[in-house]
Amino acid sequence: MEFDYNKLLNEASDVLSQKNKTEERLKVPDPEIIYEGKSTIIRNFLDIADMLNRNPEDIMKYLTKKFGIGANIVSRRLIINRKIKEDDLGEKMNEYMAAYVLCYECNSPDTTIEKVGRTYLLVCKACGAQHPIKITREIKENEDELLEGKTYSVAVSEIGRSGEGHAFYGEYTIYIPNVKKGEHVRVLIKKIKKNIAIAEVSK
Ligand SMILES: [Zn+2]
Repeated sequence: MEFDYNKLLNEASDVLSQKNKTEERLKVPDPEIIYEGKSTIIRNFLDIADMLNRNPEDIMKYLTKKFGIGANIVSRRLIINRKIKEDDLGEKMNEYMAAYVLCYECNSPDTTIEKVGRTYLLVCKACGAQHPIKITREIKENEDELLEGKTYSVAVSEIGRSGEGHAFYGEYTIYIPNVKKGEHVRVLIKKIKKNIAIAEVSK
């Protein structure tokens, strides 16, 4: 019996190109990191978020919480207000992937997050596995967190002894000079020490 080598070859290359297509679709781009002044910039941040099928704000919140520093999304880039080593950034991205993206069973990144009742499930499109994740807790905690270099909208609740305004934010008291009681202002956090934050009105 003779083998039809051409037929075998064609079939094999079909399988191969099919496989490549899937892998290509799921390939998460490496972060393109550049440094500008004291900032770390991920140039392809939104590309990564798109590829992971995750909300870029959620990924940003995760990173800012882990690094304890502010960040902003500007056009398609993430700008972090501090120099962060590529390795450290990669490590935190991997942790994010492990918690919120990669299937706990088969490790495929082809997953979605679905809300069922009050639970968020990581649902795998590759193998069908479903596992609850703790995304709500992570993000909720982060909402009450104050970070140096970030701006926040607050209301001045009282005036302190030196004439500075006080606003309350989560566990923090924010000290703001040159404001009036009852005023709503957007402030830039300059310095945080324990539960006290020093801020100035942001322009
Ligand atoms: Zn899976």
